[in-house]
Amino acid sequence: MSLFGGPTERERLAGQIRRQIHRLAVAAFGAVEVWTPIAGTSMTRPTVDDPSAGIRAALLTRNAAEAAIVDYAREARSAGQSWGEIATALGIGEDEILPPVGERAFDEVTGRVDSHTQTDLRWICGICEQRVTDLGPSGAHPNDQERGHSETCSRCVTEIVAWRERTGRAD
Ligand SMILES: [Zn+2]
Repeated sequence: MSLFGGPTERERLAGQIRRQIHRLAVAAFGAVEVWTPIAGTSMTRPTVDDPSAGIRAALLTRNAAEAAIVDYAREARSAGQSWGEIATALGIGEDEILPPVGERAFDEVTGRVDSHTQTDLRWICGICEQRVTDLGPSGAHPNDQERGHSETCSRCVTEIVAWRERTGRAD
């Protein structure tokens, strides 16, 4: 609830998604819409006669949403956004105890459980148009983080120059 008691924009949007799940349960999983009383009020709300159909519809929606997160993360990385920027979109904030936000965003998107497990995200670089294997932001050198850019890719060169300035190293 917002300060004034009405639903927040976020709650309103979540409500729209829930209504879509409800419609999916009816349209695709054989449920029939029924109206149930809301306890303690004279109002009713729409629900379905078969809650399992609702669960199936919600699960399908969740799986599709998770796949969409991966697709959009791929697009973001392809367009040059950092894992830190993706972390912001995912609502991941700084925390003293937890790993850096970019690493946590990478874990979230790729399903990596810990830093000992190797996962990657593959996308086409928006600059050199090569297929890049993104190993996440935890690698020490830019070449340990992203493999596959062309040698002259300006994005790759910029990252290596920045890394050299940051670390004072020449490799
Ligand atoms: Zn590139």
